[in-house]
Amino acid sequence: MSKIKMTTPIVEMDGDEMTRILWQWIKEILILPYVDLKTEYYDLGLVKRDETDDKITVDSANATLKYGVAVKCATITPNQQRVEEYNLKKMWKSPNGTIRAILDGTVFRAPILIDGITPYIPTWKKPIVIARHAYGDVYKAVDGETAKGKAELSFTDRNGERKSIEVFDFKDNGVVMAMHNTDKSIESFARSCFNYALDKKMPLWFATKDTISKIYDGNFKKIFARIYEEEYKDKFEKLGIEYMYTLIDDVVARIVRSEGGIIWACKNYDGDVMSDMLATAFGSLAMMTSVLVSPTGVFEYEAAHGTVTRHYYKYRKGEETSTNPVATIFAWTGALKKRGELDGNDELMGFADRLEKATVETIENGEMTGDLVSLFKKEGITPKKLSSEEFLKAIAKRL
Ligand code: NAP
Ligand code: MG
Repeated sequence: MSKIKMTTPIVEMDGDEMTRILWQWIKEILILPYVDLKTEYYDLGLVKRDETDDKITVDSANATLKYGVAVKCATITPNQQRVEEYNLKKMWKSPNGTIRAILDGTVFRAPILIDGITPYIPTWKKPIVIARHAYGDVYKAVDGETAKGKAELSFTDRNGERKSIEVFDFKDNGVVMAMHNTDKSIESFARSCFNYALDKKMPLWFATKDTISKIYDGNFKKIFARIYEEEYKDKFEKLGIEYMYTLIDDVVARIVRSEGGIIWACKNYDGDVMSDMLATAFGSLAMMTSVLVSPTGVFEYEAAHGTVTRHYYKYRKGEETSTNPVATIFAWTGALKKRGELDGNDELMGFADRLEKATVETIENGEMTGDLVSLFKKEGITPKKLSSEEFLKAIAKRL
C-alpha cells in the first residue's frame, strides 16, 4: 500500500510526560504506516524549553503563522515544584499563553461523543463547543483592600487629560477591583468565532450581562454586532446558520434545553467555568478536544487535558498505564484534516476521517481505556479495559 503524500508540513509541537509517550505511539501505530508525514518539528518539552530560554516556543508559534496549521502535545506549565524537579533556569511561562499571545487566538473546546456514553444531560445529542475569550477581564484585573474612605478610578489620556469615576464611598473596610479589555482583542475574538462557525457550519450564540454591565459588557455586544453586520451576515445567511446574541442567564437556560450542535462564545470567566461544566457533563476531560483559531485563520489543535502526571510516574516505574489517547488522536486528525483542506488533499482528509471513525467505533464496540469503562453503558456489550498501547492497536485493526 502506498502512503498518502503531503505537500505542506504541519507544525508539530511535542510535549511532556505521559502525553509525550502517547504522542510517539500515536504516530508510530496510527499515522506513519499510512501517511508520508511531513512536519516541522518543535520540541516544547520542558527540558528543551529551558535549554533554549523558551525561544523554541516562540519559534513554533511563528512557524504556525507561516504554515497555518499546528498540532500540539500537552506541556508542563512550570510551578515552583517543577523548577526543582527539572532544575530550571527560571519558572517559564505557560507555552499555551505564549502561543496564544502570538497567534492572537480564541480557544474552542469540543467534546467527542460516543454511543454508549450518555451525557449527564441526556437530551444533548450533538457537541456543544465553547469559545472562550482568552484575554483580560478578571484574569488581568488589579484589586486591593480598602478602609474607610473613597475609592476612585482615574484615567489619564496621552495629552494628560484626566477623568475620574467614583467607585464607592466606604464607611468601613472592603475590597475593590478594576479590570479591562481592549477593542482590538474583542474584535479578534469576534472574528475567530464567526470564522469558526462558518468553518463548522454551526450556529453561534454569544451572551454577556449587558443589562447590568451596560458599558463594559455592552462594548462586547456592540463590537460583535458591528463585525457581524459588516463582515459576516451575508456568509451566515448563505449557509443558513444563525448568529444570536442574548443574556448569559438566558443562554444557560437555552443550552440546558438544547440538543447541542451550537458554538457558545463566552467571555473569559464564563468560558473558564462553563468549559469545566461541559467537559464533566459530556463525560470526561480525556474526550475533549481544543483548537486555537486566530482571527486570520491559523489553526492549532490539541487535547484539552494536561500531561497526566500521575500516569507518567507509574509508566516510569515500568507499570502499564491505561491513559486515554483519544483527545490527542483527534488533535492530529483535526490538523491533518485542516492541512488537507487547505492543500486540496482529499486523500489526507479522508484518512483523518477514517481514523476518527475507527477510534469512535473501537470504543463503541467495547474496547477502551480505564477512564471510560465506568461511563460506558450499552446493551449486550461489556466494556473491556485496555492499556494505551493495546487500545491504539485495536484502533489500527479497524483502519
Ligand atoms: P491532567 O494532566 O489533565 O490530569 C488530571 C487528571 O485527570 C489525571 O490525573 C487523570 O486522573 C485524569 N486525566 C486527564 N487526562 C487523562 C487521560 N488522557 N486519560 C486518563 N485520565 C486522564 O491535569 P493536571 O494533573 O492538573 O496537570 C498535569 C500537568 O499538565 C501540569 O504540569 C500542567 O501544567 C499541565 N497542563 C497542561 C495543559 C496543556 O498543555 N494544554 C493543560 C492542563 C494542564 P486519574 O489520575 O484519576 O487517572
Ligand atoms: Mg476552569
